[in-house]
Amino acid sequence: MIILENYINGTLQKPLSGEYIDNIDPSVGEVYGKIPNSNAADVQAAVDAAEKAFPIWSGMTAKQRSEIMLRVAALVEKNLDALAAAESQDNGKPLKLAQTVDIPRARDNFAFFATAILHQEDAFHNMGASGFNYTLREPIGIVGCISPWNLPLYLFTWKIAPALASGNCVIAKPSEVTPYSAYLFSKLCIEAGMPAGVLNILHGTGPSCGQAIVEHKKIKAISFTGGTKTGENIARIAAPMFKKLSLELGGKNPNLVFADADFDLAVSTSARAAFTNQGQICLCGSRIFVEASIYEKFKVAFLEKIEKLTVGPPEDENSRMGAVVSEAHMNKVLEYISLAKKEGGTILHGGHRVMLQGKHANGYYLAPTVIEGLAYDCRTNQEEIFGPVVTLTPFETEEEALMMANSTVYGLSSTIFTKDLNKAHRVASNIHAGIVWINCWLVRDLRTPFGGMKASGVGREGGLEALHFFTEPKNVCLHY
Ligand code: NDP
Repeated sequence: MIILENYINGTLQKPLSGEYIDNIDPSVGEVYGKIPNSNAADVQAAVDAAEKAFPIWSGMTAKQRSEIMLRVAALVEKNLDALAAAESQDNGKPLKLAQTVDIPRARDNFAFFATAILHQEDAFHNMGASGFNYTLREPIGIVGCISPWNLPLYLFTWKIAPALASGNCVIAKPSEVTPYSAYLFSKLCIEAGMPAGVLNILHGTGPSCGQAIVEHKKIKAISFTGGTKTGENIARIAAPMFKKLSLELGGKNPNLVFADADFDLAVSTSARAAFTNQGQICLCGSRIFVEASIYEKFKVAFLEKIEKLTVGPPEDENSRMGAVVSEAHMNKVLEYISLAKKEGGTILHGGHRVMLQGKHANGYYLAPTVIEGLAYDCRTNQEEIFGPVVTLTPFETEEEALMMANSTVYGLSSTIFTKDLNKAHRVASNIHAGIVWINCWLVRDLRTPFGGMKASGVGREGGLEALHFFTEPKNVCLHY
């Protein structure tokens, strides 16, 4: 039994209540560990430690902070296999995906922001003969970072790295569903010589530990990634305290395939965009719109690709899809599949649980599911399912494709397949999404703004956007 501890004031500690929650391995459907059930008292202990650490950490030069963070990045790389195994066991994702995507990206997040602060320049506004302005960017103080279960260490480090690099002290909470890699990460921070209290990692539930972070008056900013409903609740609590808020929320991303697209590229990329990580990526393209003249041809080729997506144990090299994250989540996805049928959809592939043999017989596996015949504005096509479910819908004109693509409350990401560059740029400018990929998907450059419009969030992460979020600008004006 693996028993996790909180990381507070530079040490690993038991929860003050002495209470623990079960940690379940979704690939086998069994409890394999215990997680601290932290509450407001643990959050207070972390805030006390962060308050003491803030003058030390914010007083360091960028180079000193950078060196410590680069040591953390190097240790993540050195411990890649252990971290990937933890991530796969906690989440159910294929081990290979964790080895090649999740953990390398966690390392890159720390290295990226550790080096970004070495190249920062401050703004200067010249008023000619009458004076000038310069703008200081000061750390906010103590900030809260709350992350979800789908890309556990990847999204956790994506928040805490810019927060730390900017000189803030951090109280962070990974999802209680996937806390293991963040626990191992806290040990690496100790090994790297992170000063006590600079980063505090608390484990526990959203309504108890997460909410106590959001409610704490001394935590001046909240960077949150998760569901739109949770984001609404956080905004309601944080706004009257005038906390800075960055909210990265849900998505229902459209994937537009025009008749003039590179056909093979569109098919294979759409399949990847639909089912990577069992469809549990906020950026997954879950609504595929195909120009009517190639719809049937696309459907056949797409289904052929999906046939080859083996669902199996995460540790098996041949598994292209592992388990979904929990029994509750599996049941939620299955309910959406039932709803799709009620709404008149035809299941072209999947639509059911996959029962594996032996040790994995009780794991939470779902077949990749492809549905057609649904109206663009039915619930299945409007609500976020966040699982291995994709719909196919034909369109006649560019205007119709855009109308359907923009019809949801979300606006996170989108994908366009066409060889006509004029059309690509026109559609990109008319689509309501914070991220547009043309003839590709999930190509990431860490310098670019990342985030969504409408109910997909408020604010942007990535590059300078993140460094600006975690700092307070102060303009200093000198008049001659
Ligand atoms: P949740 O909103 O349920 O949880 C996200 C985090 O918030 C978890 O750590 C959770 O803790 C915590 N939390 C829950 N309730 C509260 C609360 N009242 N106060 C403070 N914190 C709370 O999302 P999921 O974990 O289910 O993640 C899936 C969602 O995340 C999807 O909607 C997906 O689209 C979105 N997402 C968005 C991304 C983006 O960049 N826009 C990227 C990835 C995912 P706990 O789990 O322990 O309860």
